Amino acid sequence: MENISENARRILDRARAAAERAGTRVTVVAASKMNDTAAVRLAYEGGIRCFGENRVQELETKLREGAYDGAKLHFIGHLQRNKVRALVGRVDLIESVDSAELMDMISARATALGTVQPILIEVNIGGEAAKSGVEPERLEELLEHAGGAPGVSVRGLMTIPPRDPEKEKTVRYFEQMRKLFVDMSGKKYDNVTMTVLSMGMSGDFEEAIACGANTVRVGSAIFGQRR
Ligand SMILES: *Cc1c(COP(=O)(O)O)cnc(C)c1O
Repeated sequence: MENISENARRILDRARAAAERAGTRVTVVAASKMNDTAAVRLAYEGGIRCFGENRVQELETKLREGAYDGAKLHFIGHLQRNKVRALVGRVDLIESVDSAELMDMISARATALGTVQPILIEVNIGGEAAKSGVEPERLEELLEHAGGAPGVSVRGLMTIPPRDPEKEKTVRYFEQMRKLFVDMSGKKYDNVTMTVLSMGMSGDFEEAIACGANTVRVGSAIFGQRR
């Protein structure tokens, strides 16, 4: 448990060094699912200033306990429709929006609250059947859709590439994402500003940064293996 602060420091150092090599800056999102408020605070002590949660209920509990005080909070998990109401307006960024329907629900809730919810579009870069994320071929259609969803502000793209023991394969997916990101940045869509590219986890965040990620989501390398 005491190691969490030290792990966090080391990961931040490595991420910043990778960003410096790539000529960018990087935000390390500590993926804190299944870790309690005490663990989250240890990561904060180690310098983490952004946390990512996968489940709305878990996020609500830790939010009540002050786990994220002084830090930003992202939602990075699969978002169920019946949880949209509880989530919108309480996080700085929802990273995992992958359908027009979900975008509309978030937009409607944000509008009712008198706010605008920043979101990322999750891309299923590996085209895996069982995975969430919009297929790359349908990304433009979804970005176009944002023009009619005034309660959201699209800030960029997120992906979880297929698990592959061969790093070169993962890197190829990262490169495809960078290309998509650059292509989409060159187009004009209402309610869309392409600034965030979120990719890379414990095993590959340095490669992701080298391929253009400016946000990485790191869990087990900070908090230890999840049970
Ligand atoms: C858990 C999780 C991560 C971090 O995974 P690690 O391999 O533990 O670093 C990143 N992104 C998402 C969406 C996650 O759910």
